[in-house]
Amino acid sequence: MKTIIEPFKIKSVEPIRFTTKEERIKILEEAGYNPFMIRADDVLIDLLTDSGTSAMSSDQWAGIMKGDESYAGAKSFFRFESAVRNITGDKFIIPTHQGRAAEKIIFSVLGGQGKYFVSNTLFDTTRANIEFSGAEGVDLLVEVGKHPEQKAPFKGNIDIEALEAFIKKTGRENIPLVIITVTNNSGGGQPVSMQNIKEAKAVCSKYDIPMFLDACRFAENAYFIKQREKGYENKSILEICREMFSYADGSTMSAKKDALVNIGGWLSMNDENLALQCRNLLIVTEGFATYGGLAGRDLEAIAQGLEEVVDEHYLQYRIRSTAYLGEKLVSYGIPIIEPPGGHAIYLDAKRFLPDIPAHQYPGQAIVGELYIEGGIRACEIGSVMFGKVDKEGKFIPSMMELVRLAIPRRVYTQSHVDYVIEVIQEVYNKRSKIKGVEIVYEAPMLRHFTAKFKPLS
Ligand SMILES: *Cc1c(COP(=O)(O)O)cnc(C)c1O
Repeated sequence: MKTIIEPFKIKSVEPIRFTTKEERIKILEEAGYNPFMIRADDVLIDLLTDSGTSAMSSDQWAGIMKGDESYAGAKSFFRFESAVRNITGDKFIIPTHQGRAAEKIIFSVLGGQGKYFVSNTLFDTTRANIEFSGAEGVDLLVEVGKHPEQKAPFKGNIDIEALEAFIKKTGRENIPLVIITVTNNSGGGQPVSMQNIKEAKAVCSKYDIPMFLDACRFAENAYFIKQREKGYENKSILEICREMFSYADGSTMSAKKDALVNIGGWLSMNDENLALQCRNLLIVTEGFATYGGLAGRDLEAIAQGLEEVVDEHYLQYRIRSTAYLGEKLVSYGIPIIEPPGGHAIYLDAKRFLPDIPAHQYPGQAIVGELYIEGGIRACEIGSVMFGKVDKEGKFIPSMMELVRLAIPRRVYTQSHVDYVIEVIQEVYNKRSKIKGVEIVYEAPMLRHFTAKFKPLS
């Protein structure tokens, strides 16, 4: 088989500013060892997130010019609505400025004290919005998904037995919604099988609980289903997407992921009464129902992006280029979550730095080294993000200690990725010299964005 090439040519380029290692040591120190606090201009290869970092196509840029900026009933809204409906099949499509705005609305309506939202794994903003409403989020990931070193085709699946047991124990009246995150971002970008979505829906239906998709990476998930699940090898990506959404009663979406744009999102559903309540909140917090915090041009770009993201050549390149990074790292003995997920490679910091305990944040330590060594910006997904202190003051670590190398869509080429591999190798080779870090400042919620750290001596 020949090399899978980027299915696009480059028409517009953005220069990268080079820095020296000495400069980066200083920059990182000034940023409190938190890459979120570094200026993007001081980063060589930015793998902080795949969110809102996609390169848009020439057709999307054309859409930007065509955007209808009418306050109400803009042409661009109807194009957006029909593009979203084409994939989700949902009756009510509510635009939002990004994923968490959709989350804020749905959990404000359905959440509150004593309520539980059950998921394969809730993403951090999803959990934060649930908790902000006074409710609790519950993750019921299948066992294999919790073991970075174990290979399985669908490590993002929800544990169906645990789901039913939880509903029986908690009472269906206390569970307003089950949320299936595709692909499972916090758990390594691992896909969820169609079978699992179907079975989760069957359990939800039995207890009359609605089920939503957190659909941020629906197209990547569909591609994995096509590759790995029996019966789907000859279906088109669009058909697979439609089937996935057909089991759900609605979705929250960050268009900054699989809609290939820099801003946007939606909340979709079939329940009219729920849609009415959500739209009312939308108008208070986001904007009128036909723009929801977005410009007409943004809606236009999303509609176009949704057509491009289900293209199989795009998805083949996308999934293959992530796997390429993962496979090279594995071949050098560097521990990652296997098999590689869709949008990111996750270094397994527990095995990378086995001597650094969770409360010294091994993932954050690696993140710092990657920046110093090669100007690469990555993101800790471990005890900085998910660690907690219980009522007795005891430290509760995250289930996994990971470093996420998120791959922006259509942005970097294979030689950029080869450079990343070389830098990680260098950091790995000197791992015995890496020290843990301590937190010297943290915010009460989503602390990883603004926390400041100090390396331990
Ligand atoms: C990014 C993301 C969100 C939140 O979306 P934003 O656009 O960043 O607000 C929610 N869930 C998942 C799985 C995500 O990846």
